Amino acid sequence: MYSMISVCKPIIGQEEIAAATAVLQSGQLAQGARVKALEEAWSAYCGTHYAVAINNGTAGLHTALYAAGIDRGDEVITTPFTFVATANAILMQGARPVFADISPDNFNLDPKEVEAKITPKTKAILAVDLYGQAADYTALKKIAEKNHLALLEDACQSIGATQFGQKTGALADCGVFSLYATKNIMCGEGGMVVTNSEEYASRARMFRNQGQSEVGRYDYQALGYNYRLNEMQAAIAFEQLKKVDNLNEKRRSNAMHLAAGLVDLPGITLPSIRKENQHVFHQFTIRVSNLSEHSRDGLFEYLRTLNIGSGVYYPKPLHLYPHFAFLNQGIGTFPVAEQAAKEVLSLPVHPSLSTTDLDCIIDAVKKYAST
Ligand SMILES: *Cc1c(COP(=O)(O)O)cnc(C)c1O
Repeated sequence: MYSMISVCKPIIGQEEIAAATAVLQSGQLAQGARVKALEEAWSAYCGTHYAVAINNGTAGLHTALYAAGIDRGDEVITTPFTFVATANAILMQGARPVFADISPDNFNLDPKEVEAKITPKTKAILAVDLYGQAADYTALKKIAEKNHLALLEDACQSIGATQFGQKTGALADCGVFSLYATKNIMCGEGGMVVTNSEEYASRARMFRNQGQSEVGRYDYQALGYNYRLNEMQAAIAFEQLKKVDNLNEKRRSNAMHLAAGLVDLPGITLPSIRKENQHVFHQFTIRVSNLSEHSRDGLFEYLRTLNIGSGVYYPKPLHLYPHFAFLNQGIGTFPVAEQAAKEVLSLPVHPSLSTTDLDCIIDAVKKYAST
């Protein structure tokens, strides 16, 4: 009997179990002191003045767009090669997503493509740190400043990653994290918005709590939502945050092991890390190309027969889905993203993998690539 090597696995220790139990015993389950403690720990970790806890990453993105003043009819430039939530949040705020193509080496927004999409209606750039590596914020910041745009960061996959030593989330005017079950740290469902701006933080707190000001209850200042995190989620996330650097270190060392074993294979391109970045390998994503049309899917199936899980993140760029068809961008509009969608495959890299697991993955990919 072979056990399955899964593509992701949450790590839940006695600390999380004890923390969740303590919340149940306390009788205080809705947002309170534990959410506040998590926010303080999170802003200290990221090096930002403020952190505002939200009940998931999608709601966090929606909140960040509201905090930045994005409104109906505004244009927000983002990547088509991301999880759907990034662009959905723009629609949720009544704004128009304007896609720009990605760089082929790191799968993140190509700043030159972003600059070419700016119009008088553009209000913000929403960059994504895909797979756990920061986008090019040096270039994006220059573009944002020159054109008076807000710069927002979808850091849902990159908790703990850095660029020139600065943590993701803090690389833009406002950053958003997810604590969904498959992320590097998690509490089942959860999110966090970080910023150095007091105005953004205060708008975010209002937005997550039915538009009520901090002056008082029933003082509704604007349309808001119920986007609050609860105490049990906060208590679990607080324990996870203490472990994040160790867990990321294990991911990095697993990634190095995989990269060393898979070097120079025909048709396989390994992840590339820019020198200013520290990558946290939410995913270890290779490209499978130059073999045959279906070679990526072939490798996926082959690994599955060996009980090795892998994942395609993402099989189709967002401009090709029905609810973005109103943008009138057919096949061929974003060639780099479209090529990536055909070629990417994420191999298991999570902290629970043993050296035997890693070697088993390496042997399987090697065998596939050489036959
Ligand atoms: C997970 C994720 C989200 C959404 O987070 P949820 O907590 O699942 O709502 C948004 N963007 C990216 C890039 C993600 O990976």
